Amino acid sequence: MIVDALPLSRAAVDRAAEHRPDGLAHALAEPSTRVLLVDDGSVLTDEAFDLLLLSPDEARALVADPVASHVDERAEHTVSPDGRVAGGLSSDAAAVPTASPEGTDTDGLWLLLGRDADGTAYAARRVLGRRPAPATGSASDVLVHAAAGAPDSADPPPTPLPPGARWSSLRVVGATLSARDAGLATSAVALDAWHARHPRCPRCGAATVATQAGWVRACTVDGSEHYPRTDPAVIMAVVDDADRLLLGHATAWAAHRWSTLAGFVEAGESLESAVRREVREETGVVVDTVEYRGSQPWPFPASLMVGFRAHARSTDVAVDGVELESARWFTRAELRDAVAAGDVIPPGPSSIARALVEDWYGGRLPAGPEV
Ligand SMILES: [Zn+2]
Repeated sequence: MIVDALPLSRAAVDRAAEHRPDGLAHALAEPSTRVLLVDDGSVLTDEAFDLLLLSPDEARALVADPVASHVDERAEHTVSPDGRVAGGLSSDAAAVPTASPEGTDTDGLWLLLGRDADGTAYAARRVLGRRPAPATGSASDVLVHAAAGAPDSADPPPTPLPPGARWSSLRVVGATLSARDAGLATSAVALDAWHARHPRCPRCGAATVATQAGWVRACTVDGSEHYPRTDPAVIMAVVDDADRLLLGHATAWAAHRWSTLAGFVEAGESLESAVRREVREETGVVVDTVEYRGSQPWPFPASLMVGFRAHARSTDVAVDGVELESARWFTRAELRDAVAAGDVIPPGPSSIARALVEDWYGGRLPAGPEV
């Protein structure tokens, strides 16, 4: 089974869900609690790209946690407590919900991730409105506070990051973080993305506020509760009777980038049916048996990649030209030589796609040529 080989699938901290109702306040009152900072797919790391874990006070000082409410600049709209939608990116703090009978805005900014076997709590602090947003971060980054769109003397000044600290995309550092830290960062990135995209109630359109240490959003009007979304996607290593692997090159990708086929599961569809449908739609290849190989959370923003080995009953390839530009079969020797020559750039090392390819290949792929 390949699950444990996947960087973002590893978890070593108990999620402690039963303690969420009052767990956040307790955790933030404990100096031993470790806090990571998260924003838009990135986490704060040190120079060695290890997760930077702070005490609650250190995290508060860094983000200068002062005000009663925060504008989430990534939300399409902000909504007033009585349900009025204030269009666009409002800097009017009064337009943002701050509390409900069940929760406070604290639950949406601080996320309780769990506790380890020693009882140490782990939390994440969302950093809203960081500007600019570098892909991998640099030491000169500053934390810019919410409502940073228009200059306002009431805004606290940007806080410099600690020496050596940098914002790092989880896509990049996920492969090298420890099992514990990869699990923490993955949950934090997933929850952050969900909060940013779900400011409103899907039933009535009114404001929602976070409760349950950041794991639930509750409607301020009808009280309905909403949970983090996970959208399943299938990803598959399709293998024929000659033990060749089918890889595709998507129209949107850079030259030489090849990977396994993948696609989202449609409403009412089984995983196995989704595998067969996607392979047939994208390449014309008919698949019969489908075998589960492992899964990987992919919180960009809300996917769960479910990985399979699939057996091809046919081998003629006819790409649609829309999603896929080309697809072809590789023997192990062909793939090895193509990767070594730089003619094929395989999927990244933190991805389940890479794990599925190497599961078929029987070991690590060779390194590509130095660029
Ligand atoms: Zn509602």
